[in-house]
Amino acid sequence: MSRIAIGEISHETNTFCPPTTLAMFVARHWDRGEEIISRERGTRTYLGGMIDAGERLGVTLVPTFAASTEPWGTITREAYDTMVGELVQAIQQAMPLDAVCVALHGAGIAEGITDLESGVLEAIRNVVGGAMPIAAPLDLHGNITPRMVSLATGLFGVHEYPHTDSFERGGEAMAFLLRVLRGEITPAMAIEALPLLIPASPSALEPARTINAFCHEWEQQPGMIDCAFFHGFSHTDIPEAGVTVVAVAEREAALARRAAQAVAREVWARRESFQVKFPQPAEAVAQAVNLAGSVTPVVINEVSDNPGGGGPGDGTHLLRAMLAAGLSESAFGTLYDPEVADAAHRAGVGATLRVRLGGKHDRLHGDPLDVEVYVKTLTDGRFKLSTPMGRGSPVNLGKMARLACGGVDVVVASQRTQVLDPEPFLLQGIDVARCRIVGLKSSAHFRAGFSRIAKHIVSTDPPGISTSNLSSFQYRRLRRPIYPLDRGATY
Ligand SMILES: [Zn+2]
Repeated sequence: MSRIAIGEISHETNTFCPPTTLAMFVARHWDRGEEIISRERGTRTYLGGMIDAGERLGVTLVPTFAASTEPWGTITREAYDTMVGELVQAIQQAMPLDAVCVALHGAGIAEGITDLESGVLEAIRNVVGGAMPIAAPLDLHGNITPRMVSLATGLFGVHEYPHTDSFERGGEAMAFLLRVLRGEITPAMAIEALPLLIPASPSALEPARTINAFCHEWEQQPGMIDCAFFHGFSHTDIPEAGVTVVAVAEREAALARRAAQAVAREVWARRESFQVKFPQPAEAVAQAVNLAGSVTPVVINEVSDNPGGGGPGDGTHLLRAMLAAGLSESAFGTLYDPEVADAAHRAGVGATLRVRLGGKHDRLHGDPLDVEVYVKTLTDGRFKLSTPMGRGSPVNLGKMARLACGGVDVVVASQRTQVLDPEPFLLQGIDVARCRIVGLKSSAHFRAGFSRIAKHIVSTDPPGISTSNLSSFQYRRLRRPIYPLDRGATY
């Protein structure tokens, strides 16, 4: 029976945000040993997939350490050292092991370390040696480097955005390790990097859909295991940011290289069609009102203040436009504003109060809204995700409130979060299916949780730190030339 350690250190780092601290990880997701199994078993996550596959395949799973938190700025050295220390120590104590399966993101950055994942993999290698198989499922927003490829035995990026296949990739990584341990394969990997940044590109839409089809074709070739199109994370100022393709073959490095290069060429050929432009909030709301005349609900997603990409979550650009339009039977969520949530909890259900809503983090995402609100519902902010992406995972947004503001019910939370599904609304008694217009903060992940509810989707991209308008960022360390910042970049 194989003994395989499982764990996770993952973060999507937006270098344009303030630092991500140790406390942010500890408060969000910080599990040791058996806590990992009890949190993740049965959930649609990387670790959920590893546990499921490991138990089905008769593996002795050794849970070590798992931590993650909402995307934000560069991770402090203290947080990085503490997390790597926890993981390495737990792996050391778990020895002897046959293999290690560790969930990573790919776009993690810590102070002095532009490639967190290589740092983690190297620290694991230092304990387990160069020969032990190590596999890692990764987020397709990872900025993958040749160093990660050389340190790991197999890397498995999610193919879908929204990431509805995290569970499958975790399971695939585990099953892969067993094939390696049985001697069935001697895997070889290849990476192809493109001088290309792309904005949020859902995999159900073009051109990402066609690229995925190419990847799947390559995966069907004899001798191939996996071929993944990594979109990269563009909101990060490091030399390696950008699109990569990573291929895993059963033994032939040349085959992996052919696959990675062929898919990379297809991405490059479509570089222009990845670049999108969305309307400003007033126009997006006008479009939504028009569409809501026939079928509802219409969902408006605010791309540029997406807490799942480093947004502060308290931006008011879209909410201001919704209030100005005098909407009825509509909802907006979630707005990160612990002060207002607390004030509502103190005032109680049925109270009317004046608040300065949102806009507290910075001016970029909009000024606070001075409004009178009616406290309709108060909750503890605890629920479980229902979206195919992470279904079953527990969420705790702290004190939450449903504040009626004219015809818009605003859902206020005490933790920053991207809206992934209707659960944060439902918890406050709002059935989004009955709303006319629903405003939310997300670039694309909400599509998985709202696909059966939203009759139309309108995206808006006001100024913000997760905007698709990449020319609004001041890149200093990024390698140049790179498309679309440098139109003449070549591959
Ligand atoms: Zn992602």
